[in-house]
Amino acid sequence: MRWQDGLQGYADLHPWTDLGDLPLAEELARIHDERWTPLSHSSLQLARRDAEARWAQRNLLPSPPGMKNNALVTSPAVLTSDFLHALKIQHFDTLKIKLGRDLKSEMAQLKVLEHTSWKLRFDFNGMLDESSYADFMAALSPAVREQIEYVEDPCAYDPAVWKRLHKWAPLALDQHLNLALTHGKPACDVLILKPAKNAVAETMQFAQTHGCGVTVTSYMDHAVGVVHALSIAEDLKKEYGDLILQSGCLTHRRFHKDEFTRQLSWEGPCVLPVPGVGVGFDTLLEGLPWQPLTGR
Ligand code: MG
Repeated sequence: MRWQDGLQGYADLHPWTDLGDLPLAEELARIHDERWTPLSHSSLQLARRDAEARWAQRNLLPSPPGMKNNALVTSPAVLTSDFLHALKIQHFDTLKIKLGRDLKSEMAQLKVLEHTSWKLRFDFNGMLDESSYADFMAALSPAVREQIEYVEDPCAYDPAVWKRLHKWAPLALDQHLNLALTHGKPACDVLILKPAKNAVAETMQFAQTHGCGVTVTSYMDHAVGVVHALSIAEDLKKEYGDLILQSGCLTHRRFHKDEFTRQLSWEGPCVLPVPGVGVGFDTLLEGLPWQPLTGR
């Protein structure tokens, strides 16, 4: 993105159509017409943030990094004591585990976590209904239940239902956050803030008003987006302290490596600044075959 004041900055835009985002071609056409969506509006803000940091010759990530990330576990089937030991020696202390595809076997796979020091974040992506979630939590070993920091999107967000489910574990709201922001008091303890999609200032104001914790996560997007999300997390941590929980931005390892992710380096749960200014990647970004946006 290039502005009339001469500043130039970078952000990515990664729609997930199965999560309800518009297809990329539609997003691009709308950017051309300056009809902003939550995704493109965020990209614009983040690109400007990058542009200002580039102008000031400043990297957007602090050194040394202050923000830890949870380890992402896409299926509890991988949870073995060897797997957990490898994460522990890298100083991870929190696991975010995706659940909800096969509750019965997942319940058995979680047993390995009993009486360990892992802090647990479960994410059901809204796939359950009230009774299947309640049954799952009732049957879960109490030792594992005690280690839960929060459960993300057990079922579709419905304040009345979530209030009833709250007794099992603290709840975190991800998928319908933008919807909840426009209503009153939320029925959750934690907000999942994705700078790629949610307005940062509004979300923080909402969190403060209602006493919710905030976890900043990437959007499972390009390395540029990962660094943007982390940089927001670092800044919010400085400003809001304990309100900001450990982040969930170490997502690029779920994908094949590319020339960008190869430039990301981390020490255990912390990501180091990428060489360059702004989000880094200076030479790679300059070398991309940029094209002006055209209308439909
Ligand atoms: Mg989620």
